[in-house]
Amino acid sequence: MNGDAAIILIVEDEPPIRRLLRTTLGAHDYRTLEAATGAEALSALRHHRADLVLLDLGLPDIDGLELIGKIRALAPVPIVVLSSRGDEAAKVVALDGGADDYVTKPFGADELLARIRAALRHRLQEQGAERGFA
Ligand code: CA
Repeated sequence: MNGDAAIILIVEDEPPIRRLLRTTLGAHDYRTLEAATGAEALSALRHHRADLVLLDLGLPDIDGLELIGKIRALAPVPIVVLSSRGDEAAKVVALDGGADDYVTKPFGADELLARIRAALRHRLQEQGAERGFA
């Protein structure tokens, strides 16, 4: 396993979608953590390093938009939101609330991977700028 592989926390309550995400990301050398609820997501972020959060907005225990704020309060980790088709208002609120990007379900693997790469890249650039390297 590549020690430099980015670690992605998958927050999704539907097991088939979680499995699909895990398989897709694993096939592209990402390491994954999984959470089925908002509480699990926050617990995972408290106990593990994650380089990016993939966040389904429709979770059983907490509104996804509220969860974005809680994640933001915990860690400066990029958040890519998974939203349902046509949920334009939720996307806007998610982005305004601190999400970095969103992918609309059903999504293609290539688009998802491209958005993850972009979010990770932006975060690295920000970190470089903060350290005076940019
Ligand atoms: Ca869901």
